[in-house]
Amino acid sequence: MRISFLGLGAIGTPMAARVAARHELTVWNRTGARAAAFAAQHPCRVAATPRAAAEGAQAVITCLPTSADVEALLDGGDGLAAGLADGVLFIDCTSGDAATSRRLAERLAARGVTYVDAPVSGGTNGAESGTLAVMVGGDQAAFERARPILECFGQRIERIGPVGSGDALKAVNNALLAANILAVGEGLAALVKAGVPAAKALEIINVSSGRSFVSEVLVPTRVLNGSWPRTFRLALLDKDVRIAVGLLEETGVEGPVLQLVSKQFREARARLGEGADYLEAIRLIERQAGVEIRG
Ligand code: NDP
Repeated sequence: MRISFLGLGAIGTPMAARVAARHELTVWNRTGARAAAFAAQHPCRVAATPRAAAEGAQAVITCLPTSADVEALLDGGDGLAAGLADGVLFIDCTSGDAATSRRLAERLAARGVTYVDAPVSGGTNGAESGTLAVMVGGDQAAFERARPILECFGQRIERIGPVGSGDALKAVNNALLAANILAVGEGLAALVKAGVPAAKALEIINVSSGRSFVSEVLVPTRVLNGSWPRTFRLALLDKDVRIAVGLLEETGVEGPVLQLVSKQFREARARLGEGADYLEAIRLIERQAGVEIRG
């Protein structure tokens, strides 16, 4: 198929690389140098504008920070919308918000373009190995069209419900991740200060009822060894938790826990900046506690 991929960021790049291996790929990235660097390594064509990327494509994949960024990409003479042909499938892999996704779907449907929200989970490693979970919002027919394309980088590919439901699920998933990061960081900082070695504490937590992806995978491979790789910006996780809190508000669910998590991440973003990695939230806890969680 002729597929266009827009947004060669930390996760978009390995996802697009897997699409390049199976399909005729065109890429566009806001910073052109990144697209050129990608094209030097993978078979693809580089489009000069979003419009040029859309022209001739049978399916378009976007992976930008927010739904608002995707919506803005549609506009203008060189915008995506100007190049989309009738019948194109539009797969938005952004971790977006449901309301904007529904508006995008309506706007594109008016031009004969089918939209699905398809946020992913599994991190940059999962994108590289093609093992992402993909949460799809859209009708069954759209899902059936999207699935073979999503199989380039996804392993567990599920239709969640109508447009926007993938976004909603992804936001809640990431709010749980964020809550876990803070809770594990706080608990381990206290244990280390109380004289329990972090590695020993994790060894036991990870065969006990408090274990989580954060305690089993993230902290051992990124915090204990002090490597702090940058794979997912804290600013994006802050955005995800805000979307989740918005969902709680919309549905009338009181959410003191997730509201507090959101406040903590908002403050962490303000202190650490737009480039910080999400696990650096634990660094702030370490700093406040005057201790390092290593082992
Ligand atoms: P990055 O910040 O690494 O990259 C963002 C990409 O979007 C870049 O290609 C950037 O272009 C482009 N971009 C940013 N703003 C605009 C804009 N206004 N118009 C056009 N292009 C823009 O993000 P990620 O790749 O990490 O994340 C992308 C999406 O995937 C987010 O919604 C994120 O929440 C989600 N996600 C990320 C995961 C991860 O592990 N990183 C895991 C799961 C989901 P430029 O090169 O010019 O800056």
